[in-house]
Amino acid sequence: MTRRIRDCRRCGRAVGKPDRDLCARCHWAASHAPVTHPCPRCGVDRVLQPDTGRCVRCSRTCRQCQAPVLFVDRDLCKECLRRQRRDADRADCPRCSKRRILRPATGLCGSCSHPGRPPNPDTACVDCGRVTRLTGAGRCRSCWERSPHRITVRAANLAEALADPPNWLGTFAAYLVGRHHPSRACAMLTRLGKHLTDEHPTHPQALLGAVADDVPLARALEDFLTASKLALPPDRDERRAAARRQSRIDAVPAPLRPAVTGFAEHLVAGRDRARRAGTRPRGHTTLEARLTAVRDFAQFLTARRCKTDWATADVGDIEAFLHAHPGRRASYLTGLRQFCRYALRRRLLLIDPTAGVQAPQTMAFRGPTLPVDRQRELFRRWSTDPEVHPHEAFVGLAALLHGATTQELQHLTDDDIDHEQHRIRLGRRPQPTPLDPWTWTALQRCLQHRKNLGSNNAHVLITMQTKATRAAASDSYVKQTLREVGIQPRILRSTRLVDLIGTVDAKLVAAAYGMTSEAVIAYLSDHVDFARLPNP
Ligand SMILES: [Zn+2]
Ligand SMILES: [Zn+2]
Ligand SMILES: [Zn+2]
Ligand SMILES: [Zn+2]
Ligand SMILES: [Zn+2]
Repeated sequence: MTRRIRDCRRCGRAVGKPDRDLCARCHWAASHAPVTHPCPRCGVDRVLQPDTGRCVRCSRTCRQCQAPVLFVDRDLCKECLRRQRRDADRADCPRCSKRRILRPATGLCGSCSHPGRPPNPDTACVDCGRVTRLTGAGRCRSCWERSPHRITVRAANLAEALADPPNWLGTFAAYLVGRHHPSRACAMLTRLGKHLTDEHPTHPQALLGAVADDVPLARALEDFLTASKLALPPDRDERRAAARRQSRIDAVPAPLRPAVTGFAEHLVAGRDRARRAGTRPRGHTTLEARLTAVRDFAQFLTARRCKTDWATADVGDIEAFLHAHPGRRASYLTGLRQFCRYALRRRLLLIDPTAGVQAPQTMAFRGPTLPVDRQRELFRRWSTDPEVHPHEAFVGLAALLHGATTQELQHLTDDDIDHEQHRIRLGRRPQPTPLDPWTWTALQRCLQHRKNLGSNNAHVLITMQTKATRAAASDSYVKQTLREVGIQPRILRSTRLVDLIGTVDAKLVAAAYGMTSEAVIAYLSDHVDFARLPNP
C-alpha cells in the first residue's frame, strides 16, 4: 500500500513519494512516453521518422510531385492520380504531335480532324506571294514576323496608349528598324512602354538610369539618345574605376583601413582638382597602382610583421617589403612614398619611413618581344589560314607589321579607310598608313564579316553587343582577339618598334608613328650601332 502524501496531478490516485506529484502509473507513463517534436511540414507534435525527419503522415509522399499522400496503400497524390487516369485514353496526334484524344474515324485529334477552309486563292502574301493563311497586314506568318512595319505600328500604338508620349518615340522606332529583328524590337518597345507609364521619370537621362538593368533596351536607348543629343553618355569608366578602387580598399586589413580610405579620397580629390584647374590629372591606372602598393604593404605588415598600426611601421618594414618584390620595387616605393607623405600630414605617422629608401629606375623598354621564327609562324597563320577569325588576322597583322595599338584598331572606322590607295588612318599618326596586301586582305575579311552580321556600325571591329549600335568594341575585346595564339597585341607592337628603331633612324619612326621622341628613345636603350663605332 502506498501511504498517500498527496493526490496525483493527472488521475487523482495516491502519490507516496514526497518529491513527486504523479502517481507511480502516471510517472511510468510519463517517463516512457515516446519523444515527440513538431513536424517540420505540418507543425503538429509527433514522433518523427528517422529517415525523413517528418511525422509518419508527412513521410508518405507522391512519387511524382512529392506532395503528401493521405492513403497508406497509394504512392500517387490526388492530382497526379487524376492526371494519370486522364492521360490513359490519350495518344500523340500524328499531325500536330500534341497529346490529345484521337478520333477513331480520322486517327487525328479533334482540331486536326477539322482543318477548316483552305486559304483564299485570290489573296497571296504581299511579300513572298505564297497562297497561304495570312497573319496580318496581307502577309503570311513568316513574312509578317520579319516585316519591319511592325516596329512603327507598335511605337504608334504605344504613343496612343501613353498620356504624355515622349516626342522622340517615333524616331526611336525608325532607329530600331534594320538594327534589330522586328520581334525583339517590338518586345523592347513594350518594355520601354512599362517604364514610360508607371509614373517613372520620362526625361531621357533619368530614363537611361531606370532601364539600366534591361541590357538590350538600355544599349539601344543609350545609343539612340546620345546620338540624337538627348542625353549624355553615362560615366561608366568613372563608376568602374570607383569600384576597382573600393575593392583594393576592402582588401586592406581592418585596423589599417581607415587611413587607406582617407588616402584614396585624397587621391581622387587631387585628380578632380587637377581636372578643374586644367593641369594634367592622374589617370585611373595611376591611382589604382598607388592603392595597390598600399594594400599589398598593409597585408604584408599584418601577416609578416604582425603590426596593426601605421604608426609602428618603420624603415625595416619598407625594406623587407620591397625586398620581397624586387620586380615591383619602383612602383611600390612610389605608392608608399605618396601614402607616407599623406599620413605624415594627418599625423598618422611621425617620421617618414620611406625617406632614405631608393629604387633605381630605368626608363628603358624591358618588355617581352617575339623571336623571328615565331613571328614568321604567326604571319603564315594570319595570311594563309582561312579558318582564322578575321578580327584575329587583322589585329595580328596590323600590330605585327604596322605597330598598331589596340586603341587605334578599336576606333578604326569606315572614314579612316582609303579604298583606292589601300591606306588607313590610325589614331593620331600624322600620315595615313599604307597597308601591305596581306593586312589589306584581312581588313577586307573584317568588313565582309561585319556585312554578314548585317551591321550598320561604322567601326571595323564589331561584336555581337555593338553590332546594332554606333559604339566601338570594348577595350578588352580587342586585347583578347589574339587569345587563340596566346599573346597580346602590344607584344607584337613592341616587337615591331624594337626592330624598326634598331634599323631605322629613331626620329623617322617617331614621325611615322606619331610618337614623342622620349617614347621612341625608351626602345633604343642598350642598342649599339656598330657602324658608328671607330673602325679598328
Ligand atoms: Zn496518476
Ligand atoms: Zn507532419
Ligand atoms: Zn503527385
Ligand atoms: Zn492534332
Ligand atoms: Zn510571305
